[in-house]
Parts: sequence; C-alpha cells; structure tokens
Amino acid sequence: MPTDSVNSLLASSGDAAAVAAARPLRVLIIEDYEEDALLLARYLLRAGYKLDSRRVETASQLESLLDDPLGWDLVLADYTLPSFGARDALALIQARGVDLPFIIVSGTIDEVSAVNAMRAGAHDYVLKGHLERLLPAIERELADASRRKERLETEAELRAVQQRFSSTFNQAAVGMAHTSTDGRFELVNQRLAELLRVEPEKFVGMALGEFVLPSDRLAKRALLEDLIAGKRTGFRAEVNMLRTDGETFPAQLTVSLLSRDHDAQPSVLWVIEDISARKAAERETSELMTRLINSERLAAAGRMANTLAHEINNPLEALTNIVYLLQTYELPSQATEMLDVAARELERVGHITRSTLSFYRKVPGRTLDLYQVLNEVLQLFDSRAKQYKVRLEPRFGEEIRVARYDPALRQVFANVVGNALEAMETSGGTIRLRARISGGKAIVTVSDNGHGIEPRYRDAIFEPFFTTKGERGTGLGLWVTRGIVEEQGGKLELRSCTTGERHGTTIRIKLPVFSAAASPSRL
Ligand code: ADP
Ligand code: MG
Repeated sequence: MPTDSVNSLLASSGDAAAVAAARPLRVLIIEDYEEDALLLARYLLRAGYKLDSRRVETASQLESLLDDPLGWDLVLADYTLPSFGARDALALIQARGVDLPFIIVSGTIDEVSAVNAMRAGAHDYVLKGHLERLLPAIERELADASRRKERLETEAELRAVQQRFSSTFNQAAVGMAHTSTDGRFELVNQRLAELLRVEPEKFVGMALGEFVLPSDRLAKRALLEDLIAGKRTGFRAEVNMLRTDGETFPAQLTVSLLSRDHDAQPSVLWVIEDISARKAAERETSELMTRLINSERLAAAGRMANTLAHEINNPLEALTNIVYLLQTYELPSQATEMLDVAARELERVGHITRSTLSFYRKVPGRTLDLYQVLNEVLQLFDSRAKQYKVRLEPRFGEEIRVARYDPALRQVFANVVGNALEAMETSGGTIRLRARISGGKAIVTVSDNGHGIEPRYRDAIFEPFFTTKGERGTGLGLWVTRGIVEEQGGKLELRSCTTGERHGTTIRIKLPVFSAAASPSRL
C-alpha cells in the first residue's frame, strides 16, 4: 500500500469518528492485499462502526458469502484484482438480484474505467489516496439503499392491499359493480356476472339499467339523480332485476358514490343481492299467518255456533213439548192452525240446530296421539321461530302416545305456541314444550321468556276479541283454546310475569287420558 494512502487513512479517521454512530456494519471487502483490507477495516472501526467484515479474493468466495443469511450492508471493491475484479463482482451481485451498495476503492482508476464501472451499476468510487471521501460515500449509499428498500416494501404492501381488495371484490357473496354516473359498467365482480348470467367480458358497453325492470328503473331514477348530484351519500332500494334470458328476480340494491380525485369523474358503487329466498320466506310466513288466523277464526266460528246451538236446543225442546201438549187440547180451529204452523217452524229451527251440532261434532274415530299433535305443531312453527331467533325446545317422549285426542287439539297448542312466539318476536328466546303423563292425565306446559301478560289483563285475555296486538291479533286464540280444552274435559292454567329476570308466560294444559275406545269429546 502506498504511504500516502496510509497517511490519509490515519489523518481522516479522526473526523470519521464524528460521522458514524456506533452502528453495525457488515462489509464485504474485495481486495487481494490482506494489508489493504485490514487498513480499510481499521479505518471503519475507528470511524465508529461495529464492523463485521470479510475479505474476498475469488468469485466462489463471494458466492458463498452472499449466501450468508444475515446479509450484507456494503461492498468495497478494489478495481483490478489479478483473477477477479470489481466489474466481475458487480455482475455477480446483480445476477443475484441483491441490492447492495457497491463502492470501488482503488489505488488507481482512470476516468474512463470509473465511468464504465458506474454505468455498470457501481454506486461510487474512491481513490485510496482520498479515503476522506469514503465515509460520506458510505453514509450516503447506506441511506439511499435503505430508502430503496423502504420503497420496495411499501410497494409490496400496496400490492398486497390491492390484491386483498380485489379478491374481496371478486369473491364477495354479493354482486358488486362500479359504473360511471350514466350507469355504464366499469368493473363487475364474479357474483354479479353469475347473478345476471352474463360472461364477465360481455359487460363492456352495457349499462346496469338494462338489467332493471323499466318500471322499477323509472321509480328509482330520482334517488340516483340525487346521489349523483351529491344530495345524498347513498341509498337502498328493492327492485326487480332482469336476466339476459328474460328471467326476473327480486334484488336489494345498496348504492353509493365513490369519490376519487377532484378532477376524475366519480363512479357509482352498486352492491346487488338476490333476495328471492328472503322474499319467498316472507311470503311463506305471511301465508302461514293467514292460515293460522283463518283456522283460529274457523274454530272460533265453530265454537260459537256450537255454543249457540246448545243454548237454543234446550228452550227449543221445551217449546216443542209445550206446542205438542197444546195441540192435544180442544181449541178453536184458528188456534189449532196457528199451533200447527208453530210446530212446523219449531221443527225447522230444531233441524238447523241439530245439523249445526252434528257439523261441528268431531268425526268419530279420527283421533291423533299427543306426540303426533305436538310434533306437528313444532313443525308448523319451525320456520317462524328461526326467523324470530326463538329456540323451540321439545321435552317429551314417545310415552305420551297413549293419550289420543280429537285433531282439534292441534289448534289448542298452535294458539298457545303462536302466542309465545309473538311475545318474543323482538327479543328472541326459548319456548319449552313439555309433556308427560301423570295420574291419568296428560300435562302439557308451554313456557316462554317473552314479555309476559300484565296482571290487569289476566282475565280479559280469555274473552273473545280481546287482543293487545292491534290489527295483527284476532283475540280469539285463547278463547278458542280454553273452549276446546274444557270441551275435552281438561283445564288450562296460566302463570305470567312481566318484570325481572323471570319474565315470561307458562301455560299448563291438563287433559284426561282416554282409552282409545271411549269418546273423547263432549261436543
Ligand atoms: P291474539 O293472539 O290474537 O292477540 P289471543 O287470544 O291468542 O289473541 O291472546 C290474547 C292476548 O293475550 C294477546 O293479545 C296477548 O296480549 C296475551 N297473550 C297471550 N299469550 C301470551 C304470551 N305467551 N305472552 C304474552 N302475552 C300473551
Ligand atoms: Mg293468539
């Protein structure tokens, strides 16, 4: 090593100490003179780096050191080594795709070679005679490299985020699209393509409006115009959509404006859900409700007619007897004629009441066992219970099959379970349906943890037409229920609480267990 470089080393190392903080630095020194490498290392150590350096003389040494998992911060390379020079090292490092600051430190380097080396990717060059330039060069190159690394990381993160967004968009379970403000498709996800049965690439040039039923499109136009004018931030609407094959389906649209930079045109974001399943469930529920209410009304009408017929029957019989007796008296012929008319009319009334009674009398022999009755009721309410987030908890076993009843009993439990469900519509909860046989009686309890019944209504709820449900109620359920239970020789008891933890209602129905042969009905 020429003396001037040694001097320069010693002279500048004092300043250098001020430049570098005590931070780790892992350096590959490509140098054939061990002594020069040692001097460089000493220089860096005195500059304050916690140095970890290796001297490299051959390509294979460099290759194996580049495999070091800890990695390197910097390469300092002599320009011309007998077998292996800075240019070869540079090429090798670049081929690896590693971003390592590369500084040529050479005793002599002519300007042309220096320029060529820089063109080939060296970051800087320093003459051994001017080592005072080395530290600033290292610091600058380390800072540049760390900026490059940071940028690469940020770009990779950005790519990952974009990737996540695009897979969220594409794999979403709902249809999604971006359109221009005049409705032309800009971006369409997989699900929407499936919903509309259009190949994704065919959306180009099509407008979303083409897939909405014209009348619905017209009806929602004002909403869309307000959105685009900035008068609202978004809206939801139900429309009927039209597939290319002419099939329609109900859809829920959630529409919002995507604002981008000020100068770019805004886009409209559409989230499109196929709600045919929900609509079908709603329809089914409302049909079920209608059926339930109708059967409740029918049972009520039956009970009313039956009661009337019973009430009329006794005085009617008395009257018929009286008229018969009167007919045996010697009376003026006019009176006898009038009595004949009365007898005929009474006969007619009798016929009406008798046929009313027989009409509502149960079909003899058609009975259902209690297990079957309760299971049918549970099945009837299954989908409504799910909709209200109410759990139906059956607690009965096959032993209750010994009790057989008139199919009218279905109505009893349907009314009671229906009321329990309606008391938990908004809160959810559990309905326990217990049944057991004890002491010749079947005991069925239905308990809910709904809102309960206020004490002042305890009696009123069994009266016909009393309801707290406004238009939705008939007020006939409990009246019919108690009627049928009592007609079967049973009893209905009620316990209810509207406050505290134990709010809810329990209805207990006790019915005699008849043997299959005996008539279970007093109708
Ligand atoms: P409806 O159900 O049509 O109102 P019902 O005769 O079946 O008629 O019931 C009468 C009233 O009794 C209901 O409106 C309700 O206020 C009350 N009710 C019945 N069962 C329950 C219950 N399980 N929980 C709370 N309230 C009930
Ligand atoms: Mg009811």
